[in-house]
Amino acid sequence: MVYQLSQSYSPCPWLLKEYIYCPMIPWIITHYNVVEPVTVSMEDGQVDIDYKRSVVEEALGSTNHVDYEKRFTLENGSTITVDALASSRRERVVVEIKRYRRKHYRHQVTQLKGYAYLLTKHGIPVHKLVLIQDRKVVYSKRFEEIDLETVADLLKDLERVINSDKPPKAYRSRKCISCWYRRYCPLWS
Ligand code: SF4
Repeated sequence: MVYQLSQSYSPCPWLLKEYIYCPMIPWIITHYNVVEPVTVSMEDGQVDIDYKRSVVEEALGSTNHVDYEKRFTLENGSTITVDALASSRRERVVVEIKRYRRKHYRHQVTQLKGYAYLLTKHGIPVHKLVLIQDRKVVYSKRFEEIDLETVADLLKDLERVINSDKPPKAYRSRKCISCWYRRYCPLWS
């Protein structure tokens, strides 16, 4: 199959999340220029701003100033939108909100770290990350210097993957069973 490397994708938190889930996915997205269409279960998992407001107030209290679905344009012209950005005099907290509980959420935490990294690098320092699933805080940690280094390294790895002709190392696993990208996946062709 002839691949097409899209110019419109650059390493970003969303691609980073996919990369952590499976390194083959960002390679497929950028080389075949395809993205999984929105499914019924994805639509079902979407949350509106009223839902976000209510869970953030429950989780963080109402003392912070909170911007919802805040969109930022970065130097390279790309944009990121965070579910909620809570600011007080002492700290800035990025909050990601999911409707459903997931047993494994490392990829969602990495996406959060990606947002914090990009905002911090663009002069909006982030101090804390919060992930909420099914109205419960499942992750709440300071965003440290070491996280900046980790995300920088991951973004470099991701860039290497999407700029390479060769597919990255990946392994067949249980995840493949429900993976929409399997139809394009070199491990399954
Ligand atoms: S089918 Fe499996 S290896 Fe291929 S992209 Fe999906 S999860 Fe990754």
